[in-house]
Amino acid sequence: MGQTWDMFAEAEKTVIGMRIRIDDEPELVTLAYPGCVGMMGMNSLGVGVTGNNLRPTDAQPGVPWTFLCRKVLTSENAEDAARVLTEAPLCSGHNFIVGDAKGVGIDIETTGARCGRFDISEPTFVHTNHITHPSLLSLAEPIDPMGCTVERGCRLDSLLRSERGNIDVSSVQRAFRDHEGKPRSVCSHDYPVASGNRIRTCGALIMNLTQRKAHMVKGLPCQGEFEEISLASIVTEKRSAWSNEATTYRNHRYARDGRHPCEGSGKT
Ligand SMILES: [Zn+2]
Repeated sequence: MGQTWDMFAEAEKTVIGMRIRIDDEPELVTLAYPGCVGMMGMNSLGVGVTGNNLRPTDAQPGVPWTFLCRKVLTSENAEDAARVLTEAPLCSGHNFIVGDAKGVGIDIETTGARCGRFDISEPTFVHTNHITHPSLLSLAEPIDPMGCTVERGCRLDSLLRSERGNIDVSSVQRAFRDHEGKPRSVCSHDYPVASGNRIRTCGALIMNLTQRKAHMVKGLPCQGEFEEISLASIVTEKRSAWSNEATTYRNHRYARDGRHPCEGSGKT
């Protein structure tokens, strides 16, 4: 699984990676920004989540999507993760892909009040920033002609289809660094939008759920190096074992050596 995070260019400098260990919960890694409890990420049980914006017409008060991502990362499998999303009091439009180490993949699109589910059966599955579920199309804002969600989706789908059967982390890295159609490309370099802002790919995360390894880059994927973050050391231990071990740590601490996961190489 993987996701690029496109946001206002100024947000690039705020991107952080968090590795979090809390008593009685699986360890997790997430790409986020200060003040955000979680976005795309994976946990030590092999459950991953991505989340990207959609534009529905029925926004309402509810639970913000970043809290849902964080809750998903306490799940033991993809079905549990999907249940977190479908049973939550929603508030806005987002697309979530959840997956687990057994190969189960589920896509959940949400609007302000409703959600639609795709059970992923194809070898590759791509989602960008427009609603596609038939039951939700009546709640979708028209696709912004200034945007590039359709182009990016088609390009990513084409890139990944061409490598079906041989997809690995480097395949996804190449796709995330792609500049075909620039500036309407997957790797976005200050793409101008109607608001006057410029949209940049501020970071990306690729997750190997079976190996429990995340590959994170801060900033443009084409310019940074992905840093590998392994949660594998937790996998072979029984849940009670890592729970006991976790008691030696305070909540919300970073990695065992005390370093932020983006530190070390100095490149991400
Ligand atoms: Zn680029």
